[in-house]
Amino acid sequence: MRVCIIGGGFAGVGTASVLQRRGIECVIYEREAAAGGVWLHAYPSAACQNTATDYYLPCFTWEQAGIQPSFYPTKAQLLKYLEAAVKQLELDVRLNCNVTSCRRASGDGQPNPPQVREGEWIVQGRGPAGEFEESFDYLLVATGLFWTPSPTVFPDQDKYTGRILADNDLTPEVLKTLQVLKSLQGKTLAVGKTLAVVGFGKSALDQATDAADSNGVRTLHLFRRAEWALPHRVCGVHYTWLLLSRAATLWIPCWDHPSAAACALHARARWLVRAFWSLASALVWLSIARVAWGRGRVASARIALLRPFNRFIECWRLSLPLIPERYLGYNAVGLCIGHSPPTFPFLPEEDRAWLEGMQGGVQLYRHVVHPRVPGIGFVGLNTGYLNLSQVEIGALWLSAVMLGELALPPAHIQEAAIERVRAWKAAHEQPCPATNCCVIAHFAQYNDVLLGDLGVRALRGGTWPSRRFRRMVISDYADVVDEYEAQLRRRGAGAGPRHVLPRIM
Ligand SMILES: Cc1cc2nc3c(=O)[nH]c(=O)nc-3n(C[C@H](O)[C@H](O)[C@H](O)COP(=O)(O)OP(=O)(O)OC[C@H]3O[C@@H](n4cnc5c(N)ncnc54)[C@H](O)[C@@H]3O)c2cc1C
Repeated sequence: MRVCIIGGGFAGVGTASVLQRRGIECVIYEREAAAGGVWLHAYPSAACQNTATDYYLPCFTWEQAGIQPSFYPTKAQLLKYLEAAVKQLELDVRLNCNVTSCRRASGDGQPNPPQVREGEWIVQGRGPAGEFEESFDYLLVATGLFWTPSPTVFPDQDKYTGRILADNDLTPEVLKTLQVLKSLQGKTLAVGKTLAVVGFGKSALDQATDAADSNGVRTLHLFRRAEWALPHRVCGVHYTWLLLSRAATLWIPCWDHPSAAACALHARARWLVRAFWSLASALVWLSIARVAWGRGRVASARIALLRPFNRFIECWRLSLPLIPERYLGYNAVGLCIGHSPPTFPFLPEEDRAWLEGMQGGVQLYRHVVHPRVPGIGFVGLNTGYLNLSQVEIGALWLSAVMLGELALPPAHIQEAAIERVRAWKAAHEQPCPATNCCVIAHFAQYNDVLLGDLGVRALRGGTWPSRRFRRMVISDYADVVDEYEAQLRRRGAGAGPRHVLPRIM
């Protein structure tokens, strides 16, 4: 079996590593000159919000890459890591290769190249040596979520004469152009231009900070409302211990709870769940407010302004910022207001019709396949807090489907599950351009269901208490592929395919 992976970001590379271990030949096409995806073009100070223990491919450690990462890995470290992974895992990554079209052989009346069987994918694009065309059994789309900036239409935009910057545009060079140095009585003073940064996500907060720190650029931070910015430590404990332990994820409302205890808690004791999150919100707020202690009234007033009106759990109901007209007097506006839902311009029109256009991005079955779009899997559209574990488990699940080891339910059942997840998200999460492509805080429930489908144990790492109370880390999932293969051997060749669990996920 030969598989084409479109996209050489973390998801594409992680998926290729899993498929290769499963004996599936794969080729990654990447349109850029290096692997890295979003990190390649991210603003200079971009760094992971995950700690280094939570952001690496489960099969390839930082140590194996020969990199000593920062506590929060930097953009440079992430790119170096991915380069090492591609090299050491001997993955077939074709750089500077932009895939422009994919079609199923005989699917659309066009003549097929010789030796191409019906149902195979014919992938076309442009590479360093000109146009290319190759055929594959299966197509995996790993083209990411954060490429198309939100359309920058805001009130009176046509009257605005300053510069509009996108979220990756605030480079040191651009900042320099916003700094104006004046000489006054022999002293050089920085008298900056003005920059309005719009939005309250990670990019906006980073860029407002970078600009404010850059000596001389007067910075205004505009946002409609504050969301919960998670402090590194809550009451002295690193946030990963509070958010990424199983004991904590049990309290997170989800469209599907794999364990009976969690189902009972969320069905019968909602008041307890609400009380838990009210307490968590109070603790998080206390930690944020502490930042201003001893720094005077101005600092306290500013922090008080940031107090979100919702509870911490509801910050997942993200809001889009409203852009007031105050930006008009500013020399530049940095728009960090998110991205549009993903599109798939290289896929056949009939497939795109199923995949694009849904508000909140495409909702897939198990966040990896669509029953109306055969022969294609999606990786990276199941992004969550332990993102690279979702990539690996999703890729393993897809490999089992491709190899006929896992049988999916009929299309109408898959579609009903898709619709229930979509409806749950619409009711419980604020619409954001890619809500449907994410599992975010529901990563533990998601991983559990996919591992359940594969017959691999969900509770991982250490002893009984540590499996429940220790924070979950990427290394917990390091041997998932080996465990799955051992289980396959135990079942024996004649056992036939496993059937996925009848869960909504
Ligand atoms: C500033 C910033 C901070 C972040 N912090 C975190 C974090 O802390 N934790 C976390 O989990 N996630 C974080 N993310 C999210 C990050 O996007 C994911 O973790 C992950 O890197 C996404 O990888 P991906 O491979 O799915 O997509 P991408 O990185 O977007 O890769 C997609 C690739 O597909 C290629 N491509 C697209 N179309 C084609 C085509 N037609 N032909 C060939 N190639 C194509 C693109 O060039 C790109 O390389 C952050 C993102 C940003 C921007």
